[in-house]
Amino acid sequence: RAKDAGRDTLCFFDPDMQQAVTRRAALETELRNGLRQGQFLLLYQPQVDGEGRVTGAEALVRWRHPVHGMVPPAEFIPLAEESGLILPLGHWVMDTALRQQARWRTDPAFGRLDLAINVSPRQFRQENFVTQVLALLRETGADPARIKLELTESLLLHSVDSAIETMRALRAHGLGFSLDDFGTGYSSLNYLKRLPLSQIKIDQSFVRGVLLDPSDAAIARSIIALADSLGLGVIAEGVETEAHRRFLLGHGCPAFQGYLFGRPMALEAFEQHVRAARPDR
Ligand code: C2E
Ligand code: MG
Ligand code: MG
Ligand code: MG
Repeated sequence: RAKDAGRDTLCFFDPDMQQAVTRRAALETELRNGLRQGQFLLLYQPQVDGEGRVTGAEALVRWRHPVHGMVPPAEFIPLAEESGLILPLGHWVMDTALRQQARWRTDPAFGRLDLAINVSPRQFRQENFVTQVLALLRETGADPARIKLELTESLLLHSVDSAIETMRALRAHGLGFSLDDFGTGYSSLNYLKRLPLSQIKIDQSFVRGVLLDPSDAAIARSIIALADSLGLGVIAEGVETEAHRRFLLGHGCPAFQGYLFGRPMALEAFEQHVRAARPDR
């Protein structure tokens, strides 16, 4: 698609391009401008319970680039992390998601939905992260009890004690935490015990393999059992088929997210999806 952009355009997605440094700088500038110009948006992917009822959504960021179209986060989150642009971007995501929850809050069809928001390690480690989130909660009027922040294990590469402190401070205000991509990173059962989590997410790489690879099946089952015995919630991500769902449900997994139940959707489509699934009673 970079080739379609024409010769004078910055082709930062072209893997053949020699000047990686120039490309990076260009992408950084584009990211910064994109943020100023409102080129980012959130999609909402349903999360469901064992009966298939929508219990919430995960907010997933996209970049609607004027030339390259819809750019997935894998193509810009890593650079945003490295360059520090993840801080204003993450703030925008948090603000937008909390604003949305505040709008849903008073609507019976949406007020009880949990909203999961991804928080990158660098964003989470900011000294004033707690203050920022609390200020946004106040400004937006979102219900903290419906907000779940998704963290990854890479957060544990730095001070675990300060991570625990940050989580505790936010938990005291009602927010919950979910450990994303569980089992793919820097896992330690000792940390899992210490972190004030409410839920762990079984990574989609294990979910994909439950019916094909006995080790993936064993890992998925173990994660469910582990969550259970630690008193944590558990959700499987990347559930694409009924067979996946049945396997996981059969082993006690109570919550699911994946294409089987719905792709990440624009706000209007998500709201329609929820309304269609829940006729007014
Ligand atoms: P994640 O948080 O683990 O999100 C799940 C990813 O799996 C999403 O990709 C989602 O679209 C995809 N997915 C969901 N169901 C299925 C399925 O059934 N099959 C398959 N194959 N994939 C499925 P997406 O939206 O491209 O996001 C990728 C990653 O980018 C996210 O992984 C998250 O780490 C990061 N990300 C997304 N939004 C944000 C954000 O607002 N802030 C930060 N810091 N990171 C974000
Ligand atoms: Mg996530
Ligand atoms: Mg994940
Ligand atoms: Mg993932």
